[in-house]
Amino acid sequence: MRLNIEDIPEDGLQEECDLRIILDEKEKPVVVHSILKIDKVGSRILIHGTAGAEIYLKCSRCLNEFTYPVDTTFLEEYVPVENNETERLETGHRDLDLSFYRNNEIDFAEVMREQVLLTVPLKPLCSLSCKGICPACGKDLNQGPCNCRRKGGDPRLAPLQKLRERMNKGKE
Ligand SMILES: [Zn+2]
Ligand SMILES: [Zn+2]
Repeated sequence: MRLNIEDIPEDGLQEECDLRIILDEKEKPVVVHSILKIDKVGSRILIHGTAGAEIYLKCSRCLNEFTYPVDTTFLEEYVPVENNETERLETGHRDLDLSFYRNNEIDFAEVMREQVLLTVPLKPLCSLSCKGICPACGKDLNQGPCNCRRKGGDPRLAPLQKLRERMNKGKE
């Protein structure tokens, strides 16, 4: 969905929409529900909105896919890309908070995509208590202990144990 900024009335625009967004080329699109308030100040466009969605992430500990709810509020300022250089001079460091639009158009799908991606944690976890996978045998420990653990000893130390055995053999 694209918005021509010339279509924004003096007193702003209110939009409520469901957008299908592709977050990752390999995944199926997700539906993002959003409520947007769009205001125009000269050539600057202010978008104040919410984004709600359910996205799929891969747990960084157990590598299983899980559903991650997104519910975020944002305020973004857009300026035309043609003014990029002068805006930069005028606003100094403020350009960190600026986004750009070109050809008098703002693509809502792109706006929402950025906002949703901003909420994705660096190391996603399916649950705070996720036990992860055993580094020695690769078993998902959320489904129960693996054999290395039953034998006793810390599976994280298994590679070290093997190394120690090899070194002892060398000494003999
Ligand atoms: Zn997990
Ligand atoms: Zn194991």
